Amino acid sequence: MTRIMGTVAERLARNSYQTDEEFGHIEINQRIVRVTGTGRLLVAVCPAHVYAEEPDGTISAEYAACLECGTCLAVMPAGSLSWHYPRGGFGVEFREG
Ligand code: SF4
Repeated sequence: MTRIMGTVAERLARNSYQTDEEFGHIEINQRIVRVTGTGRLLVAVCPAHVYAEEPDGTISAEYAACLECGTCLAVMPAGSLSWHYPRGGFGVEFREG
């Protein structure tokens, strides 16, 4: 049995990310998020802190840090997010050890 060592932050720091500068795999429908009042939920659930509430109340997404866990897609109302896996060769690469 393999024992996982280190804190969650230390383990996440081992990951490698290949950022696709031409295709952001997350798009937010600001209108639906505003109407449903789910912006802060979106900010709260993401383990990678991809989402942030801006001073004007909109939600921004720093998609390069996405862990591709799908939590945001699972909790948000239909139509509020357009989320796709990154194109081949891009996204997160999880590393152990
Ligand atoms: S898939 Fe996971 S890591 Fe990526 S933005 Fe959604 S909640 Fe955050």
